[in-house]
Amino acid sequence: MRNTKARRDILGVLDEYDYPLNAEQIYEKLNEDYDKSTIYRNLKNYEENGEIKSIVFSDKIKYFFKGQGHFHFIYCIKCKKFERFDLCYSEQMSKYIKERLGFRVLTHTLYFEGICKECQKITKDNQYDNFDE
Ligand SMILES: [Zn+2]
Ligand SMILES: [Zn+2]
Repeated sequence: MRNTKARRDILGVLDEYDYPLNAEQIYEKLNEDYDKSTIYRNLKNYEENGEIKSIVFSDKIKYFFKGQGHFHFIYCIKCKKFERFDLCYSEQMSKYIKERLGFRVLTHTLYFEGICKECQKITKDNQYDNFDE
């Protein structure tokens, strides 16, 4: 029965947030009711069953989310915050890929990384300016 409860709790946390969470954050949000290995193991299972999806950004941390609908994320590399948005230009890209490469596109994964508004205010260096477009 413990498994059923863990399942409800872990998937429940992901339901609550409309942005991805890593195992550590899920562990904290569950008030450390489960040990980390339980959380990692369960997340792995749910992902294998296709119940949840995960993404990895340049910091190599795996973030999990429930993949209902189609949307994209931008991730702030400074404060590690996500914003979710619905705009997608896949139609145009799929058309391009079909014409140029002959592939029929079934799905796509497109993630953005950047620096959020708040972090831009406190970031004095201009090292990211080149990536503006
Ligand atoms: Zn930020
Ligand atoms: Zn898309």
